[in-house]
Amino acid sequence: MSKPYDMVIIGSGMGGLCSAYILSKEGYKVCVLEKNRQLGGNLQIFSRNKAIFDTGVHYMGGLAEGQNLNQYFKYFGLLEKLNLKQLDIDGFDHVSFKGDNNTYKHAQGYAHFVEVLSQQFPEERQNLIAYIKKIQEVCDSFPLYRIQNKSYDIFTKYLEIDTKAFLQSITKNVKLQNVLGATNLLYAGEANKTPLFVHALVVNSYIESSWRCVGGGGQIAKHLADSIKQMGGAIFNYSEATKFHFSGNEIKEVELIDGRKIAGKNFICNTDLSKALKMVGNEGNLRKAYTNRISNLENTMSVFVLYLTFKKNTMPYFNYNIYHHAEDVWDAINCPDEKDFPKGYAVFPQIAESPNHPDSLIVMCYMRYDEVKKWAHTKHIIPNYEQERGADYEAFKQEKSEKIIHALQHHFPDIKKNILSVHASTPLTYRDYIGTTDGNMYGIAKDYKDPARTFITPRTKIPNLLFTGQNITLHGILGVTVSSVVTCSEFVDRGKLIKDIQSAT
Ligand SMILES: Cc1cc2nc3c(=O)[nH]c(=O)nc-3n(C[C@H](O)[C@H](O)[C@H](O)COP(=O)(O)OP(=O)(O)OC[C@H]3O[C@@H](n4cnc5c(N)ncnc54)[C@H](O)[C@@H]3O)c2cc1C
Repeated sequence: MSKPYDMVIIGSGMGGLCSAYILSKEGYKVCVLEKNRQLGGNLQIFSRNKAIFDTGVHYMGGLAEGQNLNQYFKYFGLLEKLNLKQLDIDGFDHVSFKGDNNTYKHAQGYAHFVEVLSQQFPEERQNLIAYIKKIQEVCDSFPLYRIQNKSYDIFTKYLEIDTKAFLQSITKNVKLQNVLGATNLLYAGEANKTPLFVHALVVNSYIESSWRCVGGGGQIAKHLADSIKQMGGAIFNYSEATKFHFSGNEIKEVELIDGRKIAGKNFICNTDLSKALKMVGNEGNLRKAYTNRISNLENTMSVFVLYLTFKKNTMPYFNYNIYHHAEDVWDAINCPDEKDFPKGYAVFPQIAESPNHPDSLIVMCYMRYDEVKKWAHTKHIIPNYEQERGADYEAFKQEKSEKIIHALQHHFPDIKKNILSVHASTPLTYRDYIGTTDGNMYGIAKDYKDPARTFITPRTKIPNLLFTGQNITLHGILGVTVSSVVTCSEFVDRGKLIKDIQSAT
């Protein structure tokens, strides 16, 4: 049997790759196992009709000099390698509503954010200042978000405040409440559920500064993987982990779908939590109360995504995103009846490396897994599982796509005649490519009413099994980067690690 790796990381999502990078840099012998051909999980890209499409990173925040993701990316050797484009300073997100001809803009920079919205809501200036102040105060109570090695109470009061109720407390102006909550697709926000800290950590980062990865976010995975290999780490694609084998109460090896066994001293799961517990099985002697708690956690909503390519120069790149809602921005997640679909959506123009690329757009709207459950027995992951889901599935996708394209005429009246090709993904696509149970967007759903239950620590009840990724701390590129620091701090001195990150150039 070959020598065990110090760390076997299952899953090459952003959290898995960042953990592999940190641990390799700290001298551990690391191995990353990825079930797919392409590394990166939600960083994966694909191409249709020569256009490159992102599947799970449409824009990132905090990448300007002196901001948090900028400093983290310097540490990971990413910043200088990525081709980044800053979105419009005066409005990186444009918010619009059915039956309202105004466009409400979220601008970059705290003061500028207040200034731009105050032009449309002049009487709300003080309330907007209070909103921005509170958002920053919440972020300050999460030291790793600010790259600080301070101890903190994880059960801070901000875990127990509902986002919608918070916005109602900020202003009585219902339109402004909706404008501030309009980007809730970024965190699958639910009324009377999503805690304020989720809203604050996500929107703050984009208000600080907003960026798109030119040519797609797949380059993040590529550069991280190259660095891990240069530091001596091993990365295997087509390596789906299926079962842990134990020696006493510790895991000694993980078995892969093709029967290979990879031995390790420690195992870090970057996968869906309930799938990780499945790999543990009964051998792990986990207490029923623990497995029940993890398995019964509710996941965030899933998504239907439309990918459009256009005839040349008919849909030139615009440097912002669009969030459109019927009226109440918290209603879109309730996935309405057929006739109301889509009640809310987000539009992200894809930016290409080369000017010769076709014009393209990505449109995202909520979709329940239930809607595609009747095709759940099919599996489609190129190139290993290419099962057709059937003509009725294709018809379902086409019907949804047409409804979205019809709705998009609100912004682009000529859109129909300019489309070159239409492609779509459903919750089943995310389920299969990411390996979740239900194609959820952002892992488990946090709930302000029971924050302790949805707060997952990286250590499990098995001494050498840990978790990383979007279920630890927070989802999103920044969230999972922080989660890798939280997980790796179980092996590496956190103080030293934070100093290394703070001093990276
Ligand atoms: C539609 C959508 C849009 C998004 N947009 C943005 C955005 O604009 N900005 C932003 O910051 N964030 C965005 N996010 C969120 C962000 O992409 C994710 O939070 C983040 O990438 C998750 O990283 P992760 O480390 O948890 O791993 P994941 O991306 O969940 O990857 C897990 C990996 O594990 C692998 N795996 C699973 N099971 C096994 C197994 N048994 N054996 C081996 N490998 C396995 C999977 O194949 C996958 O590669 C978006 C997400 C979605 C779904």
